Amino acid sequence: DLHNTIQELRGNIRVFVRTRPFLPGDNGSTQSSLDIHPDGENLAIENRSKSYDFKFDKVFTPSSGQEAVFEEVSEFVQSALDGYHVCLFSYGQTGSGKTHTMQGSGSGTMRGIIPRAVEQILSQAKAMQKQKWKFNMTASFLEIYNEELKDLLVNMNEGTITGGPGMSTRNQSKDQSKLSIRRERDGRSYVAGLKKIAIDTEDSEIGMQCLKNVMSAAARARSVASTKMNSVSSRSHSVFMLHLNGVNEDDGTIVEGALNLCDLAGSERLDRSGAGSDTKRLKETQAINKSLSCLGDVFTALSNGSSHVPFRNSKLTYLLQDCLSGDGKALMFVNLSPTIESSSESLCSLRFAQRVN
Ligand code: ADP
Ligand code: MG
Repeated sequence: DLHNTIQELRGNIRVFVRTRPFLPGDNGSTQSSLDIHPDGENLAIENRSKSYDFKFDKVFTPSSGQEAVFEEVSEFVQSALDGYHVCLFSYGQTGSGKTHTMQGSGSGTMRGIIPRAVEQILSQAKAMQKQKWKFNMTASFLEIYNEELKDLLVNMNEGTITGGPGMSTRNQSKDQSKLSIRRERDGRSYVAGLKKIAIDTEDSEIGMQCLKNVMSAAARARSVASTKMNSVSSRSHSVFMLHLNGVNEDDGTIVEGALNLCDLAGSERLDRSGAGSDTKRLKETQAINKSLSCLGDVFTALSNGSSHVPFRNSKLTYLLQDCLSGDGKALMFVNLSPTIESSSESLCSLRFAQRVN
């Protein structure tokens, strides 16, 4: 594959570690397995009376809030407007704070990277109007479950711009199992038939309302699925995608950028033997193990400067290939739980992330 030979990504993947604070459900113990160095880059973890040291691009403390975390990624988000294909992942065991980091909750201080990113892009796009830049922005939201892609916005109308729930009743029964990843002539990946919902860039209030509609449609699509399957969200990857097209009306310059925010399936080691009695569970387990290990293999190949990067080995890496190569930028959050009981999973997550650096 020609595109695999023009990788120039070494050093382009950054890793941020975020440990959540102790929560009421953590058995009352507040003794942490993690020792975060005040330099914000080093940490030590204790597991079975052994201590292991790690260094990453950034290590947040459990008290770092949503705003402080976003501040560290805002430049990254910004580069989507400059024509980069940008991807943020959240990796970690279930309950470690991946969804809190990506999505957060509510519309106040607890909101996560998705709403803050859209907000920032809207306000930046507005500011760039003075230099005659005009942006078109659309959002997509998909889920990868058992190596199959599912459009979470299948019931929305593409033209939805303002207010209202933006739901259509016509497409309810449309079969979404056939969504497939294709490559355009220029080598970019895209998902054939994926809904792209317009996000108004003229008026940021309307733009944020569009985002709200997208988020609630996706939440509805997921909750329908989860009545059929147990805790589907921890066993699937969700990818929120923003596509940006800008044109400068003075000199005709165009930019095309993308921002992908990816909440990965729980990384906890799944019990293969226990799953044996349940074939559906076993299939899930294999799919999660496969796609997370493929992601690790891609990271390793990139950081070794290997001439062959196995993007095609999983849907996730094939989908995000643009972000992981060429003019791509990628950043991975490793989300950790601070508890002693989680120390062995936390150590696995940190070791996974170490393959990137
Ligand atoms: P995951 O998506 O990795 O399974 P969640 O994001 O759902 O984990 O987090 C598990 C719980 O911990 C949720 O109730 C969430 O609100 C809470 N939580 C996670 N990270 C933080 C944080 N940094 N500050 C406060 N609460 C958090
Ligand atoms: Mg989650």
